[in-house]
Amino acid sequence: MEISLRNQVAVVTGASSGIGSGIAKSLADAGAIVIVNHSSERSTDEAKAVLKEITDAGGKGITYQCDVSKEDQVIKMFQDTVSQFGTVDILINNAGIQKDAKFTEMTIDQWNAVIGVNLTGQFLCAREAIKEFLRRGIDTSRSIACGKIIHISSVHEIIPWAGHANYASSKGAVRMLMQTLAQEYGANKIRVNSICPGAIQTPINKDAWSTPEALNSLLNLIPYNRIGQPKDIGNLAAFIASDLADYITGTSIFVDGGMTTFESFSTGG
Ligand code: NAD
Repeated sequence: MEISLRNQVAVVTGASSGIGSGIAKSLADAGAIVIVNHSSERSTDEAKAVLKEITDAGGKGITYQCDVSKEDQVIKMFQDTVSQFGTVDILINNAGIQKDAKFTEMTIDQWNAVIGVNLTGQFLCAREAIKEFLRRGIDTSRSIACGKIIHISSVHEIIPWAGHANYASSKGAVRMLMQTLAQEYGANKIRVNSICPGAIQTPINKDAWSTPEALNSLLNLIPYNRIGQPKDIGNLAAFIASDLADYITGTSIFVDGGMTTFESFSTGG
């Protein structure tokens, strides 16, 4: 059994680091042409380094700068991708940020920034992707499905998170966005799912793993007793995007080493 995404075009948002870079590499390994999206001038070198790893391994792709919270930039990213590669088959809605604060001290800017990238960004990219899927229609030489969207949500779509009300709210909303799109476009053979990572070792949560004390306290939340790696998410993304997963739509899959079994109850509560 082989996971093949041969010749399919995949847009991976926020692919210049962390989970996005892991997914971009996994999709390219499976044969996809990958658009390595990054948000700003500052992340250009990181995005180029990810693309170099992909091309060195025999894969294909380009880097593309676009702030996913900006409607005009998202529309242009999809138009440019379609002009260069003919269509888009897969969207990985991964770009995300945290701006943590105690709730009573959270500013409107912190709230809006997180909702803007984590929720509005996912809405904008999904809308442009679905328009393109519907324009192209099903082409079985590419995939049985008309298109695939994978939202990168979080265990915090179900676990409340004190001090992170903006982030937890954005991820809870992504669950409803994903399920609504799966329902609305199922008959068009567009599959929409979420991957909900637990603790994955990336820059977004460096404080939680960069000292032995912090890592130890994090591991107390993870029955499987290790921190996750971007590849753990990339492996699943490649599978869900492939035709092997053709009956999977409208669901959230947790990749969390058991975090959502609530380890703190392991001694009986
Ligand atoms: P990260 O900080 O390494 O990656 C985030 C990426 O998003 C970066 O490449 C960043 O440049 C990009 N980005 C930020 N704002 C953007 C914008 N406006 N437009 C385009 N790109 C933008 O962190 P990560 O852990 O790899 O996070 C990736 C996703 O995984 C996020 O949605 C995050 O919420 C989710 N997640 C991460 C963890 C974890 O433990 N690391 C757990 C659950 C969910």
